[in-house]
Amino acid sequence: MTTTDPNCIFCKIVSGEIPSTKVYEDADVVCFKDLEPKAPVHVLAVPKEHYSNIVELSANKDLLAAVVKAAGAVAKEQAQGEFRFIFNTGESAGQSVFHVHGHILAGTPQSEGDL
Ligand code: 5GP
Ligand code: ZN
Repeated sequence: MTTTDPNCIFCKIVSGEIPSTKVYEDADVVCFKDLEPKAPVHVLAVPKEHYSNIVELSANKDLLAAVVKAAGAVAKEQAQGEFRFIFNTGESAGQSVFHVHGHILAGTPQSEGDL
């Protein structure tokens, strides 16, 4: 059974209730453009099922792998397969949406401290 949170904006993006520019979708994962891009390629990879962060998601290894695979497919299409993949985890680490999402970032050289 798929878990969703009725108050979660990314669950609403997954369902289509909130519009987004989707660039990838399969049975388990959606990737859509970040509303405020921080790089020429800035796409968010999210599992359709609601997990609050990547540590919680790691309980579902197949779904975690599906998110990584989807990010690779997006990066292959948009950035020759070369990208940064960032999971802010916790408020003090910069997480503002508590539905796990990996930031796919490409097109600009960046240092490790940047997002
Ligand atoms: P976080 O700060 O949690 O790591 O990242 C949340 C990201 O979600 C931010 O980069 C922000 O721009 C993006 N974001 C927040 N709300 C929306 C939205 O409604 N649509 C889209 N496409 N991106 C969003
Ligand atoms: Zn959610």
